[in-house]
Amino acid sequence: MQRDPQQSEFLEAVNNFFGTITPVLEKHPEYIKANLIERLIEPERAFQFRVPWVDDEGNVQVNRGFRVQFNGSIGPYKGGLRFHPSVNLSIVKFLGFEQVLKNSLTGLPIGGGKGGSDFNPKGKSDGEVMRFIQSFMTELQRHIGPDIDVPAGDIGVGGREIGYLYGQYRKIRGYQPGVLTGKGLSFGGSLARTEATGFGLLYFTQALLQDQGEDLNGKRIKVSGSGNVAIYAIQKANELGATVLTASDSNGFVYDPNGIDYTIVKQIKEVERGRIKEYADRVISAEYHEGSVWDFDLTYDVALPCATENEIGKDQATRLASNGATVVNCGSNMPCTPEAVQVFHETNVLLGPAKAANAGGVAVSALEMSQNSERLSWTFEEVDQRLEKIMQDIYTQSAEAAKEYGFGKDYLAGANIAGFKKVAEAMLAQGVI
Ligand code: NDP
Repeated sequence: MQRDPQQSEFLEAVNNFFGTITPVLEKHPEYIKANLIERLIEPERAFQFRVPWVDDEGNVQVNRGFRVQFNGSIGPYKGGLRFHPSVNLSIVKFLGFEQVLKNSLTGLPIGGGKGGSDFNPKGKSDGEVMRFIQSFMTELQRHIGPDIDVPAGDIGVGGREIGYLYGQYRKIRGYQPGVLTGKGLSFGGSLARTEATGFGLLYFTQALLQDQGEDLNGKRIKVSGSGNVAIYAIQKANELGATVLTASDSNGFVYDPNGIDYTIVKQIKEVERGRIKEYADRVISAEYHEGSVWDFDLTYDVALPCATENEIGKDQATRLASNGATVVNCGSNMPCTPEAVQVFHETNVLLGPAKAANAGGVAVSALEMSQNSERLSWTFEEVDQRLEKIMQDIYTQSAEAAKEYGFGKDYLAGANIAGFKKVAEAMLAQGVI
């Protein structure tokens, strides 16, 4: 911890974890003896590399690439690549650390890793994105492989980017579809992977509500973001009888009292690569506002942050509780600051942490790896059913661990504990490595 005082996002993630793990250590002195915690928070290895590429004007640009292989004790490193100007080693380490616990919670044999670049895909031509990616993969391919490290998408990395990444990998190393997940259906992708994180978030939400004697039918929901996670969260929320009132991007948000139509968001963001503002130009009942959706007052029941880290601070959390919301389930990674989490404790708002609530994406990625190994493709329904069962199990594990260790309905503590225990047992069994 003292080694990297400037890595604020990583330290925030580790501190959140520390705040919940003491009762486990008291029960398991063998974890302390093996110095498991210090080993757990140190990545097994981290790569940083230069990514030179040529833009459409013929200028040479240089970005920075990262891959952190955080913990491989329960399987190959697995986690997404993020392309966004804010990406640095601290962000990649925070995401990688969370991924270790998340992947453990899925019950599937995958370790944790994360990567990306400070490249900004916004406003770049297809050719620029492709040339950047070819340069990025020319270095990354040395470090990954179907049984070593299997990247996927994250912010700024969707179907187009995964296609270019796989193309360059295949050119250098040959046919190996298992090296990346989130691939197109024509070259080894899994049905339902695109929808998985958003759908999984709603399956988790349904399980949590049912445990409180409620369900999603008739619930009013606030969603942030309008990317991969948000779009399919809105779709599944509608299918389960809820109404989603908002969607956003980094400029502003739309509010539609009649309920957001996910097909229009999909057209604007996935096909036209436009801005959420354009939704209000097409839907008469919708209004567009600049700023954060969390600063907008509205009566609603469930909050689903699906944009980015630290989007909900103390003030937004206070507003959320006073607007009547009783559940916050995290589609994005670490969307709530520690001060916001404190407000939720004080106001009895239930929090489904990202490592549990958004694990559907990586779970279906692991199912994609299984299909690639078997050279088979499962149907959409088969993958979707497995996803729903995995999300229900994740909820149950988190709720039971929270109860067992005296944390009541603190699912953040429960998810940390349940995820940690499996990794800890694997690390202990494998000796000091
Ligand atoms: P996308 O790039 O598809 O969408 C991201 C959305 O969030 C966009 O609407 C974007 O708006 C908005 N956003 C990004 N940065 C900010 C910011 N600083 N302030 C406000 N809005 C912002 O990403 P995903 O939907 O894939 O990912 C969203 C979150 O979910 C991330 O935290 C990611 O780590 C997490 N996640 C994603 C998984 C997946 O399978 N895709 C799996 C598990 C977690 P704009 O267009 O203006 O940038």
